[in-house]
Amino acid sequence: MFKALVITKPESGYQCELTELDEAQLPASGDVTVRVDYSTVNYKDGLAITGKSPVVRSFPMVPGIDFAGSVTHSDHPKWKAGDRVLLNGFGVGEGHWGGLSQMARVKGDWLVALPDTLSERDAMALGTAGYTAMLCVQALQKHWAEAGVAAGSGEVLVTGAGGGVGSVAIALLAGLGHTVVASTGRPQEADYLKALGAASVIDRAGLGAPGKPLQKERWIGVVDSVGSHTLANACASTRYGGAVAACGLAQGMDLPASVAPFILRGVTLYGIDSVMAPMARREAAWDALAKTLDRAQLAAMTTEIGLADAVAAASQILAGQVRGRLVVKVKD
Ligand code: NDP
Repeated sequence: MFKALVITKPESGYQCELTELDEAQLPASGDVTVRVDYSTVNYKDGLAITGKSPVVRSFPMVPGIDFAGSVTHSDHPKWKAGDRVLLNGFGVGEGHWGGLSQMARVKGDWLVALPDTLSERDAMALGTAGYTAMLCVQALQKHWAEAGVAAGSGEVLVTGAGGGVGSVAIALLAGLGHTVVASTGRPQEADYLKALGAASVIDRAGLGAPGKPLQKERWIGVVDSVGSHTLANACASTRYGGAVAACGLAQGMDLPASVAPFILRGVTLYGIDSVMAPMARREAAWDALAKTLDRAQLAAMTTEIGLADAVAAASQILAGQVRGRLVVKVKD
């Protein structure tokens, strides 16, 4: 028997509870069984656990869109017992039982080998949010390399700065020598954001309200995890030839923008998806995270919680009350 969070949808409502399961109950559709050591609570896990958005597609469901652990049994040619692995995306925790569980059975094609220099805990301290931040940064780096834009030649905006994607993006961009401006609704976290590498901190209210289609040119690049007016204003204030990497919707799913920044300033908007990203891009992002992210900074942005605590944490992350990253110690 092992412990797992299980979401059910009885007639009385939607609930997520810590439960004991048997290995025989794991999904038959997987070909690799993994002992999970660590998972996380991402924004999407918050939606799944609370039922605030219809993220979960079948019931009962074990939430957890990512995990790190060791293979205990494999019928997949790539993996054998004892291999250290991580998984994020592919609908795990949404349509297939996920990582907020001491055991998981998944498809071997979805697994990534844990880089040698990354512990299971650090991998999940980064989690989907950190990996998505790296996908954003890599999209911007490729753009800047092609455009001949050097680090330090202008400011880079990070929105949703106090959250998981934002915190990791700040640390990564500052580590590459960029001048990072952090946009947050939590001015009390300014010291935290500066310690991660932000050169300055701005109030997100300025970006979050409706703005003009073209604004003063400021950013050579943007990592946006907020969407809605914030993304529209970020595009409108990006410098000629600059780029915006959009990955999130913390403010909203809408994009009340005009084409002006794209057709008059040649601004490029990159859409970043972590869930179905091809394996080569995943491996490159995890490898780059393992090599470049400062472990002291990762520790500074990480709070560890237990499996049972993840239910309360789900509401907190949706309320924008979580600073940085939550890592869930799943193993006993
Ligand atoms: P977090 O909750 O950790 O961070 C989101 C941050 O956005 C908050 O901390 C807050 O930062 C800010 N925020 C919250 N509400 C609002 C609001 N109403 N208006 C403006 N800003 C707001 O989530 P994650 O970092 O894990 O994820 C961020 C977003 O990215 C989510 O929408 C998530 O779904 C998405 N995402 C997408 C992925 C993909 O594959 N495309 C993968 C991973 C995440 P502050 O208090 O500093 O303002």
